[in-house]
Amino acid sequence: DCAISPKAIVQDACASYATLDRLNAQVKPALDDLTRTTDFFSHYRLNLFNKACPFWDDEGGMCANIGCAVETLDNEEDIPEVWRAAELGKLEGPRAKHLGQSARKRHPEKPLLGELGGAVSEGCVFEYDDECDERDYCVPEDESAGSKGDYVSLLRNPERFTGYGGMGSRQVWDAIYRENCFQRSSFPHTANLGSSSPKNLAQQDFKQVLDAAARQLTNDKPEVPSGDVETNDECLEKRVFYRVVSGMHASISTHLCWDFLNQTTGEWHPNLSCYAARLHPFPDRISNLYFNYALLTRAVAKVGPYLKDYTFCTGDEVEDIATRNKVLEVTDRAATVPQIFDEGLMFVNGEGPSLKEDFRNRFRNVSRIMDCVGCDKCRLWGKIQTSGYGTALKVLFEFDNAEDLPVLKRTELVALFNTHARLSSSLNALAKFRDMLQESRKGQ
Ligand code: FAD
Repeated sequence: DCAISPKAIVQDACASYATLDRLNAQVKPALDDLTRTTDFFSHYRLNLFNKACPFWDDEGGMCANIGCAVETLDNEEDIPEVWRAAELGKLEGPRAKHLGQSARKRHPEKPLLGELGGAVSEGCVFEYDDECDERDYCVPEDESAGSKGDYVSLLRNPERFTGYGGMGSRQVWDAIYRENCFQRSSFPHTANLGSSSPKNLAQQDFKQVLDAAARQLTNDKPEVPSGDVETNDECLEKRVFYRVVSGMHASISTHLCWDFLNQTTGEWHPNLSCYAARLHPFPDRISNLYFNYALLTRAVAKVGPYLKDYTFCTGDEVEDIATRNKVLEVTDRAATVPQIFDEGLMFVNGEGPSLKEDFRNRFRNVSRIMDCVGCDKCRLWGKIQTSGYGTALKVLFEFDNAEDLPVLKRTELVALFNTHARLSSSLNALAKFRDMLQESRKGQ
């Protein structure tokens, strides 16, 4: 009964915002601990700088603010030892069997299972991040680039306000919705794009924005979002695709409003007027964010059994065990609301089955568009989150149970759990923003 149907989502009695907020209060501490205190989950490897935007010339959309910059780990000493170039070549193991054959063809110089020397654990997997199979919702890395990408500490590059905006970001969001989303009747890009940008917000009458949002707070009931009503002319899968993208967009907006830079004082603080302009008046966006939280929670719960014997390759057995325990703490807590999202309803009826490949290809395109984001830090988190959603979709729609799961790459796991953590902190920030708005109203 408690399954969140992709049709109704957070409107069901048992899967209300309050239910998900309560679940989040249980999961968030474990998720924060995992993503903030383990090397495995706080470092990400990606090709951040070498890939050109495949859709347009992006020179004009580059963000020159210091806030857009990413600090990469260029010095080998800063990279956890086991992932340094010299170490990587040694890693192999039972889980690598799946990858072995194709890896062997393309990387004959790498040792395979049983050919190991030295003290490296046999349980470790050499990662071929540039490999994708047909079930992936991600884009293969460009092999011709000849680079394995950069290591980034996610702790040192938090997702927050960067100042990226204007035509550059608008073009990217437009492309994501227009090129890759199945068109829907209530397409969102009719609004005046400039009106809620941070720059314009600063010029607006702050009180006016707050008043409008406070009025809304008393009139609408956040428990029952009204924006995303059912439409019969659109199939379920298309709506789900839209919700994933819009929910990701809403989560990014939440973080930039929550960790906002006052460019006059140089202080970072939650920006209530940013929330009041970008999120509060749009219950559909908030509903989509909660939808994504449910989707990610379900995917994380589903990979739990598979991760019980996953080798985390930290290079230290004690750390390996500690990392696994922290992962299982998250997956166990995520599993406490059974069937939080019922993926079994998708791709089954009507044109559903034939849509699956289309859905996957469209999602791959969204991840390709990330190379057009002209702000390094936004691109970093955009890539992590599209990869996190892609991994969640793969886990939910390509495999019936944990035994069928393929080897998940390290980058996929890191992206999955960090995307879950981003959504978790968005839910937390939204609740605080709602309280702040109530307070500001009382004070008037
Ligand atoms: P935008 O957020 O750019 O939205 C454009 C239009 O899309 C809106 O006018 C509205 O019609 C529609 N829209 C907005 N939200 C939704 C939604 N949830 N669902 C459906 N439709 C919606 N900036 C940062 O400061 N930090 C970041 O980390 C960051 N990461 C980014 C990552 C990506 C991939 C992209 C493309 C941009 C990122 N940005 C980031 C920029 C940020 O998202 C905004 O584009 C920017 O702040 C300008 O905001 P805006 O008010 O013009 O509206």
